[in-house]
Amino acid sequence: MAVVGVLALQGSYNEHLAALRRIGVRGVEVRKPEQLLGLDSLIIPGGESTTMAKLANYHNLFPALREFVSGGKPVWGTCAGLIFLANKAVGQKTGGQELVGGLDCTVHRNFFGSQLQSFETELSVPKLAEKEGGNGTCRGVFIRAPAILEVGSDVEILAYCPVPANRPSIIISSGEGAEEEVYSKDRVIVAVRQGNILATAFHPELTSDSRWHRFFLDMDKESQAKALAALSLSSID
Ligand code: GLN
Repeated sequence: MAVVGVLALQGSYNEHLAALRRIGVRGVEVRKPEQLLGLDSLIIPGGESTTMAKLANYHNLFPALREFVSGGKPVWGTCAGLIFLANKAVGQKTGGQELVGGLDCTVHRNFFGSQLQSFETELSVPKLAEKEGGNGTCRGVFIRAPAILEVGSDVEILAYCPVPANRPSIIISSGEGAEEEVYSKDRVIVAVRQGNILATAFHPELTSDSRWHRFFLDMDKESQAKALAALSLSSID
């Protein structure tokens, strides 16, 4: 049975562990580099990415996390976890923010505003309908959420969210002082997949809907099938 690691430094890791339990999957807490060994996949939860980065640094986790992501095993980042996985982060308080990287996108921290602008909305996710039937809509819980502004050509977009009319202007501080960012699109990307990486700007673990966790576990099964196929090919040589 698959063993899913959940980075347990800070944030909503207990909720991910509970969501895994609900679908009969064993999740284990990860706080140290050696705890990544032997895992089949990894979830990086939501929380506060600056704090999470400080704790990850304290435990010397960044090199091992980067190795895990580039090693090809499935990794899912939700909210702050998405920020961690992005190759580039912009927006408030991003200066000096250390990232794991691997996901070819630019993410905007706190895109929708502060805690007061947190919201829930229905999202349309055709891929969920493809896998599970139904109409593919899901409840998106956005808490001080990031959004993805740009993606590379290898990144598959799974869901968009309309930009709320009350989205505050966000001041991005550039090298030469502060400048105001004007965002003109009416929707932003909030869920993507790039090979072994899944990322959502919202929190499926805070709902009773298990489809995203099952989606991720299917990625796990795909990667195990690939590893097995590679193993049987190498034993032919
Ligand atoms: N805004 C948070 C950050 O920048 C992320 C919020 C969340 O994970 N719910 O880290």
